[in-house]
Amino acid sequence: MKIIDIKTYVVSQDLGGSKFAYSQNWYNTRTIMLLKIVTDEGIEGWGECFGPAHAHKAIIENYYKPYLIGKNPLDRELIWDDLYNLLRDHGQFGLSVESLSGIDIALWDIAGKFFNQPIWQLLGGKRRKTITPYATGLYLREEGDPQEYMPKEALGYIEQGFKGVKMKVGFGIDNDIANVKAVREAIGEELFLAIDANHAYDVPTAIKLAWAVEEYNIAWFEEPVIPEDLEGYKRVREGSSIPISGGEAHFTRWGFKRLLEGGCVDIAQPDACVTGGISEVMKISTLCSVNGIRLVPHVWGSAVALHAAINLCFAMPDMPPSLFPEDMLLELDCTPNIFREQLAGSPIQIKNGYIYPTEKPGLGLEVDEDLIEEYLVV
Ligand code: MG
Repeated sequence: MKIIDIKTYVVSQDLGGSKFAYSQNWYNTRTIMLLKIVTDEGIEGWGECFGPAHAHKAIIENYYKPYLIGKNPLDRELIWDDLYNLLRDHGQFGLSVESLSGIDIALWDIAGKFFNQPIWQLLGGKRRKTITPYATGLYLREEGDPQEYMPKEALGYIEQGFKGVKMKVGFGIDNDIANVKAVREAIGEELFLAIDANHAYDVPTAIKLAWAVEEYNIAWFEEPVIPEDLEGYKRVREGSSIPISGGEAHFTRWGFKRLLEGGCVDIAQPDACVTGGISEVMKISTLCSVNGIRLVPHVWGSAVALHAAINLCFAMPDMPPSLFPEDMLLELDCTPNIFREQLAGSPIQIKNGYIYPTEKPGLGLEVDEDLIEEYLVV
């Protein structure tokens, strides 16, 4: 089997009136970079790259595609090493690794279809019967009082069957404290509630926030400080009783080695579309088990990203293993995104708060190419 083409698609959905913000930016579009690797045997694999879509298109078409044409798509590890090495001197993290992530995911999709097996099977087998999605939402809106709309939104997720929610903070700690209090009071004392600052704070402010919301039973405090500040992460972790998480802006086994060995996080959150693909998340999962750190993948993309993460969640080991391990959690973004909701035909099915595995080969989805055509930018 040989790779004969790589097609790249930048797709964008205008969100119209439903603009929302996290601590760094407002969103009024969902723009995503998808790619399809085509083989001479008619098998096609889909991948997705997180981040600046037009830049990924340029990197893949100008640098990765010329190398990939003619290669055996089952040579995933060889291809990963060669493509990483191709831009190593210019991009050990960031755009070039995100572009490589999409290629790796598409190669796994091809392998699954070639062997007629789901990716979780090729990764070594299904370690659990279910995975537990939590709802990511509770962003800032342009209008309204967050202490009114955030609790309402959280309750909506709980009514849909989610066992927990993650809310955005990073909007000034007085606002954050009031918002967290309102959400916790709305959903009750027990349900899972995590907070995510998207690195809005410095160390003293992050520690101050952690102490202030400690009484609200917070599952974790995500990205308290900037991703470069590993010493800062460590100081926040040491200064807070809430578990600290991070990893969506960290790249490859080398980046996670620094994060884990630096004592920065209690929970690592690699994203398959960011950190080097499914192959690299499995390597990071091994690093997590070596360092005694739990892994909860970050996901914020289309159905392709979601299915990559679902396959990983079924295959990754418990950390730590036991008769009664913690549920394997899956981040399920609930903000508007037609590519998450409709690219695979229908949204992910959640039954009684759980996602069950499918036996479909590869990623386990059939991509609606008409939807891509409809929202194609370039
Ligand atoms: Mg986050």
